[in-house]
Amino acid sequence: MTFIPYDDRDGWIWMDGAFTPWRDARIHVLTHGLHYGACVFEGERAYEGVVFKGEEHSLRLHRSAELVGYKIPFAAEEIDRAKLELMDKNGLSDCYVRAFAWRGSEMMGVSAQKASIRTAIAVWPWGDYFADKMKGIRVTMSQWKRPSPETIPSAAKAAGLYMICTMSKHKAEAEGFADALMLDYRGYVAELTGANVFLIQDGAIHTPIADCFLDGITRRTVIDLARRRGIEVVERRILPSELSDFSECFITGTAAEVTPVAEMAGVTYRPGAITEQLMTDYAALVRGRLAAPKATGARVA
Ligand code: PMP
Repeated sequence: MTFIPYDDRDGWIWMDGAFTPWRDARIHVLTHGLHYGACVFEGERAYEGVVFKGEEHSLRLHRSAELVGYKIPFAAEEIDRAKLELMDKNGLSDCYVRAFAWRGSEMMGVSAQKASIRTAIAVWPWGDYFADKMKGIRVTMSQWKRPSPETIPSAAKAAGLYMICTMSKHKAEAEGFADALMLDYRGYVAELTGANVFLIQDGAIHTPIADCFLDGITRRTVIDLARRRGIEVVERRILPSELSDFSECFITGTAAEVTPVAEMAGVTYRPGAITEQLMTDYAALVRGRLAAPKATGARVA
């Protein structure tokens, strides 16, 4: 596999309000966001020229910044517009979109009251997140747990929260797995390192309550899609000892979309009709070929 480093590509990056040649979009080594984890970001996907739920992602970016104590100097609408202009400038209509904001270089210490807030957006082509997506991925159990909301603002999509995700994912990959399941600080099933998890039992979908991990935009979309099909969705606390009670399992995320799971924490699952239906519905929805689900739980058979 050849890697094209992310800092050595052709194209444009939107940085602090201006389109910057890709290779010039640099920051100094003494940047607060790098040293102290003060960076919030979004992962989005555009399909056929439209960023799926782009406005919702921009609002979450703003909310994440608020949760970690800073304000992004560009309105959500400005960021939305910039994403589309940037896709156009890079000649991309199906791509990944990364919008992010971090504390700059004016101060280097725990306190960064006067550090500027820098903002950037990059777009690049990105295929499936998992190599063997259609076969169903194999997932191990992480040794790291999602922290309590009293420890860190866990609803933020903030860089610092990902340190244990990368550690978990690296260990999983070294052992031949695609990803790792993380429990929460209480020992309940939480999420994967970059995706939410769903389990199926007797035709009903069960998923953990998102009270200490990211309530994914894909998660909410898929819950709505399932309910529109008349499939019951139960949000509840799930113990790892219950994993073997379920027959199907899938995960959701902007990058992962809807990905079936073949094995998780030693339990094997067979991707079945519900997973397939939701994969199909999600693929249609993101390309505008299915009406957007209603905001909350409307049931349409
Ligand atoms: N949990 C984590 C830790 C993630 O990184 C992601 C991906 N952003 C998700 C869940 C899913 O979120 P979304 O559906 O909004 O992409």
